[in-house]
Amino acid sequence: MSHTTITIPATGAEMPVIGVGTFGSDHVSASEMAQAVKLALEIGYRNIDCASVYANEKEIGQVLHESNIPRKELWITSKVWNDMHGKKNVIASAKQSLRDLRLDYLDLYLVHWPFPNYHPPKCDVTSRSPDARPYIHEEFMETWQGMEELVREGLVRHIGTSNVTIPKLELLLGSCSIRPSVNEMELHPCFQQKEFRQYLAMQNIIPIGYSPLGSPNRPERDTTAEDVVDMEHPIVLELARKHNVHPAAVCLKWARGNGIVPIPQSTKERNLRSNLESVLGEPLSKEELMLLERADCNNRLIKGQVFLWNEAESWHDLWDEDGTIPCPESYRKGGAR
Ligand code: NDP
Repeated sequence: MSHTTITIPATGAEMPVIGVGTFGSDHVSASEMAQAVKLALEIGYRNIDCASVYANEKEIGQVLHESNIPRKELWITSKVWNDMHGKKNVIASAKQSLRDLRLDYLDLYLVHWPFPNYHPPKCDVTSRSPDARPYIHEEFMETWQGMEELVREGLVRHIGTSNVTIPKLELLLGSCSIRPSVNEMELHPCFQQKEFRQYLAMQNIIPIGYSPLGSPNRPERDTTAEDVVDMEHPIVLELARKHNVHPAAVCLKWARGNGIVPIPQSTKERNLRSNLESVLGEPLSKEELMLLERADCNNRLIKGQVFLWNEAESWHDLWDEDGTIPCPESYRKGGAR
């Protein structure tokens, strides 16, 4: 299967239009995920979405090392976790990921979340860390300076954001020397973030779509009673029946049709194969994409509750839904805290 790519405007680099996710959560071990990446590479994937916090970069690095795929054919992403924000820490974290992944450079390095808020793995979703803080632009820029330094040193080819909002990106774009090339964000038919994607298009920033199938096996703590199941949505089912494909294929074709690079995760050869074929094969028509717009019900699945600071009212505070960034003055640099 040919490797269709999307061009990164700032550098002209070519990113494959689908990647494979590597977040195993509670149910996929590091060695199982590495095995899945090995399978994915054999099937034809060339874009791998890694992160230090997924705790499997060493195992994936071994697979990359043993594959005979030329480095320039691969697109490898990693991310700095919340406990390594700050200029020096970011650089140290990227170097560790490079060592673990056994690479000389990363194609893309992302700030995983825009807060330095750390929580113990598998903690209760209602727990709040006393050290958690809201977004503080001055602090984020120290982290971003580390990201820029990595590009200057040649250790990283592109940098980007993840889990940010339009107001946060506006601030970043007004302050950075090196702009983000991509923004990794939750995107699936029931959570389309249309306004945000229009903003990204205007800014020449490519959206990478996480949880593109609606993360059907996410842990219970990330599930609420109101959540809608993308792969059971009537419009998704209608189009799946029409094309004689699995509903997963409709979700991924929706992403492709909207210029999103989806990064579905699977450990099963059959699913890995069909996900790749869905994106590279027959697209949905304009009319079908328009019909799918009606599936959008603003159903954010990864709400980020564990990153809330003490005074925050609810997870909505993380997402600047009224266009402003909540930040009590006392948290600002030099504030009395
Ligand atoms: P996905 O929407 O990719 O769902 C993954 C689940 O779908 C797996 O359990 C898989 O099970 C199942 N699946 C995969 N393909 C098919 C198929 N064809 N038919 C039916 N079921 C299928 O959710 P994720 O939350 O895993 O997101 C994907 C990736 O995005 C992550 O792995 C990670 O790399 C990234 N991510 C990034 C975040 C960020 O903050 N930047 C946050 C969350 C995710 P099976 O193994 O049985 O196929």
